[in-house]
Amino acid sequence: MRVPRILQFGAVYLKLLPGALVKPYARYIFEFERKQHVNIGNSILSGYGTTIFEVMSRLAQEHGAINLGQGFPDGNGPDDVVEVGVEYLRSGVNQYPSMLGIPDLRRSIAQHAFRFYGLEIDWQTETMVTSGGTEALGSTLLGLIEPGDEVILIEPLYDSYLPIVQRSGAVAKLVRLNPPYWTLPRIELEAAFSDKTKLVLVNTPMNPCSKVFNLGELEFIANLCKKHDAFAVCDEVYEHLVFDDEPHIPMLTLDGMRERTVRIQSAGKIFSLTGWKIGMVTAAAELLTPIIKAHQYLTFTTPPNLQAAVAYGLRKDDTYFEQLNTDMQARRDHLSEGLRDIGFDVIPCQGTYFMTADFRALGFDGGDIEFCKQLTVEAGVTAVPISAFYTEAVQSHFARFSFCKDEKTIDEAIRRLKVYFG
Ligand code: PMP
Ligand code: GLN
Repeated sequence: MRVPRILQFGAVYLKLLPGALVKPYARYIFEFERKQHVNIGNSILSGYGTTIFEVMSRLAQEHGAINLGQGFPDGNGPDDVVEVGVEYLRSGVNQYPSMLGIPDLRRSIAQHAFRFYGLEIDWQTETMVTSGGTEALGSTLLGLIEPGDEVILIEPLYDSYLPIVQRSGAVAKLVRLNPPYWTLPRIELEAAFSDKTKLVLVNTPMNPCSKVFNLGELEFIANLCKKHDAFAVCDEVYEHLVFDDEPHIPMLTLDGMRERTVRIQSAGKIFSLTGWKIGMVTAAAELLTPIIKAHQYLTFTTPPNLQAAVAYGLRKDDTYFEQLNTDMQARRDHLSEGLRDIGFDVIPCQGTYFMTADFRALGFDGGDIEFCKQLTVEAGVTAVPISAFYTEAVQSHFARFSFCKDEKTIDEAIRRLKVYFG
């Protein structure tokens, strides 16, 4: 079984870390490896290491580095949204809500889909609230996949996709996008589809590479789904973070895809509150039914005060969503200018919290894992190696930087990098 590098990172890291650095990490990694050798866990999940986001955030903390690795915004989200959550906690009903989510939020999900995309969604049969986009993905994959099914994944891929696909018993078919253009390889994608294909997972806007799929690409994928009677699971958690006045296009809006698409959202990204872990699933009733079956045994339900706050938030007027987008685009521009000034070759970024930069021009001729480690320890700025998002070792000289930070955090990161690179 192939274990993606994003999850082998603990082990890879250990090999690369010189003397002193090995110490704090080794404890953590060794404990993990020891557990692995006892072999009492599920053989698929036990084969994975610790995810890159956790590894890099811990390293950043240990070295007092500015964390432009893991994607979480500075700050504490919009005050009014937080206030609704606080108020509900004090005076609302804090017992188990319906496993599908509180009606107010489910209505809000449907209204939001109509307001932004003209989608008519029946909130009672076509929406469900989950504990984060991660659980939404987990419930969707566990609920839909039968052992032996084939599932198409597009690399570079988000960390949770492959483990859950494999744990569900599916055979993963990987199709690869490469920097700097991240072009969809249509011939390879078409070849990956077969009559065994159960679903394709599409992440747009795409983490880590900031690609936003255009209409032509989405139609191409949709046609393959229709031809092979497959579903599209669409991770759209960054839907409001598409820049330069380009649109976000949900697959659900495409001809013939209404009945075969699962749309996944995350309130963490819409309200800059990533710790809240409120996810949302929208799909035709028949398709949602098996996903509900998985959800009811995984988490069953989600904290009601946070649901109430998100229900309120989704009804905020257009200026909120425009401002979120404008602010994030300004941060993107700020960080990319800074990185370019220093000598990074920054790849154009169409959306998400992230940008990718080629570091070769700075005279570093090692791989991206070494680079990100060195940057954290010596320059005091953390980034994430792009190679970690591929299942097979790739020679990568690209690092992912998060720009969902305050201006002063970005300024300080740029300052440190300037000092370090002279
Ligand atoms: N998908 C992608 C592409 C993500 O970047 C994230 C962010 N963490 C998620 C899913 C998970 O979202 P959540 O934090 O709501 O679980
Ligand atoms: N989505 C975030 C990122 O890509 C991290 C989420 C996580 O740590 N699980 O950085």
